[in-house]
Parts: sequence; structure tokens; C-alpha cells
Amino acid sequence: MRKEFLPFSPPYLGEEEIAEVVDSLRSGWITTGPKTKRFEQEFADFVQAPGALALSSCTAALHTALVAANIGPGDEVITTPMTFTATVAVIEHVGAKPVLVDIQPDTMNIDPVQVAAAVTVRTKAVIVVHYGGHPCDLDAIQTVCTEHDLLLVEDAAHSLPAKYKGRMIGSGSNPVAYSFYATKNLTTAEGGMLTGDPAMIEKAGVYSLHGMNRDAWKRNSQAGSWRYDIVTPGFKYNMTDIQAAMGLQQLKKMGTILKRRREIVELYRQALAPLEAFDLPVERDDCQSAWHLFPIRIREGALKISRDEFIEEMRARNIGTSVHFIPVHTFTYYREKYGFKDQDFPVAFRESERLVSLPLHPGLSDGDVEDVVAAIRDIV
Ligand SMILES: *Cc1c(COP(=O)(O)O)cnc(C)c1O
Repeated sequence: MRKEFLPFSPPYLGEEEIAEVVDSLRSGWITTGPKTKRFEQEFADFVQAPGALALSSCTAALHTALVAANIGPGDEVITTPMTFTATVAVIEHVGAKPVLVDIQPDTMNIDPVQVAAAVTVRTKAVIVVHYGGHPCDLDAIQTVCTEHDLLLVEDAAHSLPAKYKGRMIGSGSNPVAYSFYATKNLTTAEGGMLTGDPAMIEKAGVYSLHGMNRDAWKRNSQAGSWRYDIVTPGFKYNMTDIQAAMGLQQLKKMGTILKRRREIVELYRQALAPLEAFDLPVERDDCQSAWHLFPIRIREGALKISRDEFIEEMRARNIGTSVHFIPVHTFTYYREKYGFKDQDFPVAFRESERLVSLPLHPGLSDGDVEDVVAAIRDIV
């Protein structure tokens, strides 16, 4: 059995990130500044986005996108219960109503047919989540959005970098929100990015920094002036140059990171498929997943223990795992406010009950993967 605990998703950082952060610390400029601007440009180039705004989190990016689109009280926003709470919380933050619809069983992404069925005269937007890094059925969802004049917002917290029908996620003009939280494919400890149409990005930039004009950060530099105007009461959602320093170096490694993630996925596949105890994550022919997660689903009747016991048995063998996600509709706030029952979204509920995410990060050695597999074999 493995001697030390194998953490589920530690950050993958090297001397390059450390040196770039130290450079910022020594430079005299530690908050939003030249490195944040460069990170926005290089990120936009990487995902082929028309514009990008670096922010303090993906939650901030999603919130700002809804505010910039004037979504508020009386409006409805359709989204998935199979996500992290933040995707739904931002709809509550703007005073709109989250309308949840169920997922497709193969990818666990939102079901376009159910999106279409949930549209009402109040619907203003759809927030999709590319679960685990696998793109949603974007063409089908875009068709519904075009037909009903809805804004399509993408929660791309898992999907850096991913492709749908050859197109990079984030390359469209609609708002796409990325997370650079400590566990994500690219990390700045905390951080996020909003991509999309330059006019929307400009507006989001104003909302994200006190409601000041976009380049307010310059006012403390030689180029700037002390005078500023406030056009709206904005948020404090800007990214710092210390975060951007990490981001710039992480971005250079994305190719290597994705390649290693794919290798690990293949190792898991070869080892776990023959056990016939789990449904393994899929990758559709027209998509390239960012492989943020490797969520396995325990087949009914395959094990004599429950999913929760399986997680405990893995922990006992020094392997960290997680569950993505506890469906949002089962949380107290949403149950009490909207009267949701577990079975209101039967696919999301059923799948969540048998899900376990295995460790998947570029720092895993082949030996680490063997340890995970050995633990699973032992339990099975
Ligand atoms: C991590 C995550 C978020 C939140 O990201 P933050 O940067 O921590 O705000 C949102 N949605 C999904 C699907 C996530 O996994």
C-alpha cells in the first residue's frame, strides 16, 4: 500500500512561477498592472478570444457577465444542477431566478432538449458548464438561444483548453468564464478570466473595478491622473499582478499540462475498463476535453459497498478523491426556496450518487497512477 497520502489535486508550480512572482514583488507594482494586461492578451491569444478581462475568480467573471448583460429581478436564467454552487449563486446575486434542467447521462452536461423546454417569456440567459472539461452540446444550445434571443454564458472553469467541433472554447463573442482556483488546470491561487466580445469586456471591466473607467489602474502610474469618474457602483473583482505573474508562466505550460493529463487518462482507462465495475468518462468524437476531472461512476450492483464507503476505503489506502458534484438542487437554500426534491432532476441525482473523481493532475507519476489503480483493484 502507498506510504504517503496522495492528494486529490495539488497545484503544479515550478521555479518559473516563483521567479515571475518574485519579479512582481520586487518591481514596485503588485496589484492590477502591466502583467495583468499581458496575461489578458496572452490568454485571449491562447483561446482565440476576441477580448479578455482578468478577474479575482470565475465566480466574479460569471457575476460580472450577468450584470453587464442587465440581467436582474424578474428574469430567468437556465442552468444545470450538476455544477459547483457558484454557477447558480451568481443568478441569485443579480436577483434573477435560476431555472435548473437535467443533464445528459454520457457527458453529464446540460441537456439541450430540456433547455429548449424550459424557456419562458422571462428567460434571458443560459449558463452552461463544460463538466470535467468536456464541452457541452454548444450548437444545439446556441440554436435555442438564437431562436429566443437568449445570452449564452459558458462556465469554463474546467475547460481550459478544450475544443468543440475544432473551435476553442472561449473563441466566441459570448461571455465565457474561466477559473484559476488552486485546483484548476491553470492556477493563480485565486483568479478568473472573462472572455468575449470587446464591447462586453469593456463594460464588464467597468463593473469589475468600482464602476471606474477601464484604465483606472493607470491613475497611480506616470501615465495616469488622479481624476476619475464613477459611472455605476461597481465591484472589487480585479486581478493582481502577483496572480497574473503565476498565470503568465502557467499559460506557457498548458500544452505540457494537457498532454500529461491525457496520458494519465489513458493509463486509467486501460487499467479500469477490464474491471467492469465502473462507467468511465467519455470523450465525444467532435470534442476535445480539457480533462480537468476523471470522474468514474460505480455500476449498480458492481460493489458490495456504497460510494461513500468506497471513498473511505480509498482514503484508508492513502488516496485522495472527491465528488463532482453534490447537485445544487439538493442544498438546503435551494430546496427551501424552490421546493426542489432530489428526483426533480433524476439523471443528475442518480449519477451524483455513484460518482467518484480520481486524482488527475500533471504532477502524478506513472507510479502514482499505479497506486490509485492498485487501491481500486484491492477494493473491488
Ligand atoms: C471552481 C468552479 C467555479 C468557481 O471558480 P472560482 O474561481 O473559485 O470562483 C465555478 N464553476 C465551476 C464548475 C467550478 O468548478
